[in-house]
Amino acid sequence: SSAPVLLKATDLRVAYGGIQAVKGISFEVRQGELVSLIGANGAGKTTTLKAVTGTQPILSGTIESMGQSIARQGPWDLVRQGLVMVPEGRGTFTRMTITENLQMGAYIRNDKQGILDDIDKVFAIFPRLKERRNQLAGTMSGGEQQMLAMGRALMTQPKVLLLDEPSMGLSPIMVDKIFEVVADIHQRGVTVLLVEQNATRALQLADRGYVMDSGEVTMTGTGHDLLSDPRVRAAYLGE
Ligand code: ATP
Repeated sequence: SSAPVLLKATDLRVAYGGIQAVKGISFEVRQGELVSLIGANGAGKTTTLKAVTGTQPILSGTIESMGQSIARQGPWDLVRQGLVMVPEGRGTFTRMTITENLQMGAYIRNDKQGILDDIDKVFAIFPRLKERRNQLAGTMSGGEQQMLAMGRALMTQPKVLLLDEPSMGLSPIMVDKIFEVVADIHQRGVTVLLVEQNATRALQLADRGYVMDSGEVTMTGTGHDLLSDPRVRAAYLGE
């Protein structure tokens, strides 16, 4: 592909105290791609997203966007540059309404009309949020809060949306819904880096994927190729 590289990590290492959680991984995400990062518990997926979004310091390696280093910047600077993470556990503002949460997502913007238009776009993607727009976020179900967290991230107009386990803890119906929405967001032109333990679903949606194991990238390929790879099937797809 010749699309611009919106995110590129090279030989990235991240440690907690003396323990290396990410041991020299490299990957890239090009504009318009949906890239999935899969792997078992503790493989280092969340740590990778935290490093990319500046919430966990890196030990060594480089992180670039469009040829410019973005390593060692704070999370807020990275949000301004369009790298926006929806964390595991979501972190919505529980005592604010849905609409207020979405407005908070736009705090870095001052284009009033654009913000209103984007709230309408988010409501088009998530009709459930529109129905409940005056409800307090804290009173919504886990799946609804996941939708809200994704909607709020979209309000920043991300260049790359980084999703950490969006299906975690949700009922099967809500899992279906969330993956549908991830596909929809991608089809609307948003570049997505998706971290998931649900390897089947994540690879079905992915243009490309990376498999992580014990802090290292052990396999990479198109979503289709990884889905049909016997090693992936044996280790991650429960076959
Ligand atoms: P999961 O799918 O279970 O969330 P993961 O692939 O996202 O796993 P990480 O959360 O990145 O994995 O964890 C990688 C390793 O780093 C694990 O061994 C974990 O115990 C360790 N780790 C994560 N966060 C911390 C922390 N704050 N302090 C110390 N060790 C940590």
